[in-house]
Amino acid sequence: MNGARMSQTGLETSPPSTVSWEQLQEHQVAMFRDLQNRLTQHEVWRSRIGHLQPVDAYAALRDVPFTTKHDLRDAQVEPDPTKPLGAFQLASTDQLVQITSSSGTTGAPTYFGVTANDLDRWRAGIGNAYRTAGVEPGTIVALTTGMAIVAGGMPYADGIRSAGGALAWIGGQTTARMATAMQRLRVSVLVATASFATHFANRCEELLGVPAPELAVRTVIAGGEPGAGVPHIRQSILDAWGATRVSEFMGLGDVLPALWAECEAGGGMHFTAAPDVLVELIDPETHEHVPWEPGATGEAIYTTLTREACPVVRFRSGDQLLVTGVECACGRTAPTVRCVGRTDDMLIYKAMNVYPSSIREVVLDTASDVLSGTMRIRKETKDQVRFDTPLPLEVELREGLDAATAEGPLRAAADAVSERLRVRVAIEPRTHGEIPISDYKNALTYVEGTNPYA
Ligand SMILES: [Zn+2]
Repeated sequence: MNGARMSQTGLETSPPSTVSWEQLQEHQVAMFRDLQNRLTQHEVWRSRIGHLQPVDAYAALRDVPFTTKHDLRDAQVEPDPTKPLGAFQLASTDQLVQITSSSGTTGAPTYFGVTANDLDRWRAGIGNAYRTAGVEPGTIVALTTGMAIVAGGMPYADGIRSAGGALAWIGGQTTARMATAMQRLRVSVLVATASFATHFANRCEELLGVPAPELAVRTVIAGGEPGAGVPHIRQSILDAWGATRVSEFMGLGDVLPALWAECEAGGGMHFTAAPDVLVELIDPETHEHVPWEPGATGEAIYTTLTREACPVVRFRSGDQLLVTGVECACGRTAPTVRCVGRTDDMLIYKAMNVYPSSIREVVLDTASDVLSGTMRIRKETKDQVRFDTPLPLEVELREGLDAATAEGPLRAAADAVSERLRVRVAIEPRTHGEIPISDYKNALTYVEGTNPYA
């Protein structure tokens, strides 16, 4: 129940529950100073942070420059025979034991390396997240991603085993074989994206000829995309599998593949990556710190305090978090959050800012009786942010429903969006199966005339 457990590698996986969030931050600021000393021995970091005084307080982090996705990507453009991972590779190549990549859903993938020590810390940290999310000895855990090199591949597999679960890596096969494995192995914990989790339940029913609730899945760990925190999406995952628990899960390959995981209390995701990662919450416009208080929102900024191969300092995640609580029935002292959108995803309708995920939440709040939960906004070009006419929103109807039946609820949903978010949407119903679904990340926007998963 509490977070003070040791992993199988003997590393401390999370701070004892007696350590408050504030005490933890103080400890991490001290670790940040050690990181400064270590990094300034390398030219790439000396030029970025060498001029700074040692950071002596959380507030002083504000003076440290950000690292962005562009910085990391640009550093890998020019090939360097001694540094295949680019200028930010600090460990020599003979010290690397594994390479992972970002999913590349928002551009060319970037690659990250880990040393043997990094790998131990990753296993412990990701294991802590899986333990928080409900993996324990005795659980049979199905991992559905088909890509080993991404954060949701090998690193998740290591974390599941570190948490004590029996890993059944069923991804990467045909859906029929995946479904057979779900039944034969009596899988109790399913790890999937929120959208794939529901889709896969339907496919299992079709392929096995038995309702998915008659299989053994009781916990669904949903990561890779925001969504599992939205009440209607959560409920549809629970119903689809006859599950008793949905645990939302979030991480970043650039930082640590699992950073946040939801406990049995179900009120949001706890930060599970301390002491290895320092997290800050900032206002994305002013860059000022946002206090960790219930109801606060801000962008998550991460610093890897212990990583040897490819550390990052104040990495801008682009993830917009909403703090849902600072005290939890489970006893963990880290605050709980929901991911409410991505800074990059923000759209503008006649000067009003809006996240696609907020639109989805309002639409499902109003019309979930007729909708499957899958939807997407159509853009004219990849870079389109501004809309002067109502945002074209394609929504998937529940199986067997037609557009005429859904007309009333969909009109009500469009009105609710305009009332609550002050943006207008033009809802276009699509029959079940018409919107493609990926088994990895599903975007809430897409460019007209393209199939992002083809
Ligand atoms: Zn909790």
